[in-house]
Amino acid sequence: MNYRHAYHAGNFADVLKHTVLLALIEAMQSKPTPFCVIETHAGSGCYALDGREAGKTGEFKDGISRLLYPDLHGSTAKASSLPPLLRRWLDSILAVPGNEDGLKVYPGSPLQAANAMRAEDSAQLSELHPEEATLLHELFRRDPRIHVHQRDGYEALNGLLPPKEKRGLVLIDPPYEAQEAEYKRIELAVKAAMQRWPTGVYAIWYPIKLRSQVQPFLRWLSRCGAKRVLRAELMVHPDDSPLRLNGSGMVILNAPWKLDDTLREPLQAMARLLSKDRPAEWKLDWLLQEGAEPPAPSPLPPSRLAALRLLASRTPPPPRPSSSAPPSSRAPSARPPSSRTPSSRPTSSGSKSGPPSSSSPSSRPPRKSGPGRPR
Ligand code: SAM
Repeated sequence: MNYRHAYHAGNFADVLKHTVLLALIEAMQSKPTPFCVIETHAGSGCYALDGREAGKTGEFKDGISRLLYPDLHGSTAKASSLPPLLRRWLDSILAVPGNEDGLKVYPGSPLQAANAMRAEDSAQLSELHPEEATLLHELFRRDPRIHVHQRDGYEALNGLLPPKEKRGLVLIDPPYEAQEAEYKRIELAVKAAMQRWPTGVYAIWYPIKLRSQVQPFLRWLSRCGAKRVLRAELMVHPDDSPLRLNGSGMVILNAPWKLDDTLREPLQAMARLLSKDRPAEWKLDWLLQEGAEPPAPSPLPPSRLAALRLLASRTPPPPRPSSSAPPSSRAPSARPPSSRTPSSRPTSSGSKSGPPSSSSPSSRPPRKSGPGRPR
C-alpha cells in the first residue's frame, strides 16, 4: 500500500468524483428518511494543500484551483457564473475550517459527505492504512453519525449491507495500484453487494490511462444486475498513454433519476475550466437504462438466443430425457458468458461520444511508489 491521497487531493479527478458525490447526497436528501453513506476506501478525510505531499505534486492547482480562481489560469469564466451544483460544491470546500482566507485545506470524500449529511443520516467509513485510518478516526471522534473502521473496505462492505436505513450510497474509490487486480476486486465486491442489497446506489471511481483498459470493466458493470447505470467522465489529456492519469470517470449503479440532467452542465463547466493544452472532453451517458436489456457479452445466433431464453424461463427445470450422464453435466450453463468479450451496448443518451467499443488487450501500467498511482 504505497498510495497516499495527500499527493493528489483536489486534483481534476477529485473535482469530478466529489461533485458527483454531492449530487448523489443531494438526490438522497430529496426524501426525508435517513440514508447511509458507505465508503470502502475513505482516506484520511482532510488534506493540507500547503503540506509537503500536495506541495510536491501541486496537482490541486490543475484541479480545484482552476475552478476557484479561473482568472489565475487565463480563463475568462467567472466562478460566480458556475452551474449551481458546482457553486454549492466549491462553497462547501471553502466553508471548511482553515479555508477562511482562501483554499488551504482540501476535505476528502468522508468530510465532504459528513458536511452535506443531515443529523439523522449516517456514514460507515473503511480505511486500511493504519496512519490514514487514525487520522480519519481523529477527525470524526466527536461525530456520532460517523463510524470509522480500520479494515479492508471490500471485506467490510459485505457486513455493512444492507444498511439499517435501507437507503444509501456506496462509494468505491480504491487506489488502483495494480489496475487489473483492482477491477477484479471491485467486480467481486459489487457482485456480492448486489446480492445483499440490489437497490443500493453504488458510485465507482476509475482512472483512465488507456481507454482500452477500461472498456471490459465498464461492460461488466453494466451487466452486474443494476437497473440503471450512468457513466460520467472527464478527460484532460488524450487517453493514449498508460503512464499518466489522462482522465477519470464515475460509474453510478442504480443512479437516481435525472442524475444525468443534474451533472450535464457541471461537467461542461469542468471541461471548460480544467482544459490545459487542449480542450478537456467529457462523457455523460447511460450504459444501461431501466427496462433495457443489459449489453450482451457477444452476439449470439438467434437460435441459440431462443434456446437460452427458453431455458431461463423454466423454473424448476423440466425433467430431461433419460440418459446415463447426470443432469448437471448436460444442462447448458445458465451463467452469463465471460464479460471480457466484446459486446454491443444499449442506447446512450446525453453522450458526447459513442458507446464503449469492443475490448482489446490491456497493458498494465507500471506500479508507482510514494504517491502511488497518478490521480
Ligand atoms: N475516497 C477518498 C477521497 O476521495 O477523499 C480517497 C481515497 S484514496 C483514493 C484510496 C484510499 O484507500 C487510500 O487512503 C488507501 O490507503 C486506502 N486503501 C487501499 N486499499 C484499501 C483496502 N483494501 N481497503 C480500504 N482502504 C484501502
